[in-house]
Amino acid sequence: MSGAAITPWVVGNWKMNPLRADAKQLVEELKQLLQNQNIEESKCHIGVAPIALALQSVQAQFSDSSRNICVVAQDLSRIAGTGAYTGEISAELLKDSEIDYVLIGHSERREVLGDSPAVINEKVKHALSAGLTVIYCVGESLEQREKGLAEQTVLQQICDIAAVVKAEQWRQIVIAYEPIWAIGTGKTASPEDAQAMHAKLREGLSQITPAGRSMAILYGGSVKPENAVELAACPDINGALVGGASLNAESFYQIAQAFANTK
Ligand code: PEP
Repeated sequence: MSGAAITPWVVGNWKMNPLRADAKQLVEELKQLLQNQNIEESKCHIGVAPIALALQSVQAQFSDSSRNICVVAQDLSRIAGTGAYTGEISAELLKDSEIDYVLIGHSERREVLGDSPAVINEKVKHALSAGLTVIYCVGESLEQREKGLAEQTVLQQICDIAAVVKAEQWRQIVIAYEPIWAIGTGKTASPEDAQAMHAKLREGLSQITPAGRSMAILYGGSVKPENAVELAACPDINGALVGGASLNAESFYQIAQAFANTK
C-alpha cells in the first residue's frame, strides 16, 4: 500500500522564531525564490507556521505571492469558542482570522508544555469541528525506540485521536511522523527506517479509515536540502515538517523543490 499519488506537503515550523524583521525578510526571500522559479501547487503544498502574533501579518505578506502558501498556527486552545480564558486562542478564533491550518501534538508541546493525550484530543476535536486542517504530530523518544516500542508508540498516538475524529473528518488530517530523537539534533532517521514507519502508519490508518490510503504522512526531524531528495523518494513519505531549515528561505525552497520534483 503506497501513498505515491498523494500531493506532498512541505511545512516550515518556525517555532518561537524569528524576530519580526527577520520573519519579514524570510517571507520576502521565499516569495522571490518562488517568483523566479515557481513550484506548482499541484506538485507540492507549501506552508509556514509562524508564532501566533505573526499569523496575520505573514498571511497578508504572502497575499501577493505567485502561489498559495498555507499559513499554519503552531497550536490552539483546548477550549472552544470565546469566553473568559486569558491567553487562549480557540479554533473558532483562528478560523475567524482566516487561518485554516493548525499543528497539534508536536513533541515539544507534549514533552515540554504538558499537552497530554486528553488535551490533544480536545484540541483535535475543536479544530476539526471549526473546519481547520490539522497537522497531527506523532513520534517516539530515543528510549522508546531503543526498547523496541517505536511502532507501538506512534500507532497508539493515532489510536488516541481516533476516539474524537468523526469518519468524514479524517480528510482534514495530515500526519507528521517526527521521531523525537531526530528533532533539532541533526540526526535524521534513515530513509529505510522512516519509510518502514510511514508504511506502518499508513497500514494503521487504513484499518481505521478508508481515507488512510490517501492521507499525507510527512516526515520531520532534521530535514534539510542534503537529505530531502532521498526522503522524498520513499513511497510513503508525502512531504516534510521542517524546523531549523525552514528559517532559511533557500534551504526551505530546496526541500519543497525536492518533494515537488521527486513525487
Ligand atoms: C520540528 O520541530 O518539527 C522539526 C522537525 O525540527 P527540525 O527540522 O529542526 O529537526
